[in-house]
Amino acid sequence: MHKLYSLKKAKKILIATNNPGKFVELKEILPKKIKYHKPKDFNLKEPVENGRTFKANAKIKSSFAAKKTGLISISDDSGLEVDALNKRPGVLSARWAGPSKNFNIAIKKIYNLLKKKNKLNSKARFICAISVAFPDGSSFEYQGKIEGSLSFPARGKRGFGYDPIFVPKGYFKTFAQISKIKKNKISHRYKAFIQIKKFFKFS
Ligand code: IMP
Repeated sequence: MHKLYSLKKAKKILIATNNPGKFVELKEILPKKIKYHKPKDFNLKEPVENGRTFKANAKIKSSFAAKKTGLISISDDSGLEVDALNKRPGVLSARWAGPSKNFNIAIKKIYNLLKKKNKLNSKARFICAISVAFPDGSSFEYQGKIEGSLSFPARGKRGFGYDPIFVPKGYFKTFAQISKIKKNKISHRYKAFIQIKKFFKFS
C-alpha cells in the first residue's frame, strides 16, 4: 500500500506555507477531521529555496518542516514558464516581482523581453508541484500544469501574480478575468492537489 494512505490516519498535518490563500485552498481539499498547523505555530523559519525545479523546491519546504516539527508536512511551489524565454521565469516567478512583490514589474519585464523577440503571444504554462514529507525523511511529489499563451496588455482584476497576462488554452479571457471558482477547477494548483486527494478516499 502506498505510504500516502497513512495520511488518512494522521491527526495533525502541517501545511508548510505562509500564504493564507494557499493554506485555505489546501485545507479545502483535505479531510476536515485533521488538525492543520501553520509554520507560525512552530516559529518555523523559511528554508532557502535553491532547487532547480518546482518539485525540488516543494520538497525542500515540506522536508524542512517535517524534520523540524515531527509532523507530516505538505507544501507547494509554483510559477510561470514562458516558452519564448526558455521557460523563464520558472522557479524564479515570485522573485521577478522584486522585494516589494510588485507584479507590474515582473509583467513589464516579460513584456520587454518578448517584445524584443517579437513573440508577445508566446506559449506559456503555469506549473504547481506539491510535496508531502514524513518525519522519517521520505517524501512524495506531484505536479499539475495548465497550458496557455500570453496576452498583452494585462486584462482583468481578479487573481494574483501573472494572472492578467495568462490566457488558458481554449479560452479568450485571462486568468484575471475568469471567476475564482472556474479558475480553481482548471488550475495547475488544483491539478496538483487533486493527486493527493485520492489517498484519503480508500482505507
Ligand atoms: P511560490 O509561492 O514560490 O509558489 O511562488 C509562486 C509564484 O508564481 C507567485 O508569486 C506568482 O508569481 C506565480 N504564480 C503561481 N501560481 C500562479 C497563478 O495561479 N496565477 C498567477 N501567478 C501565479
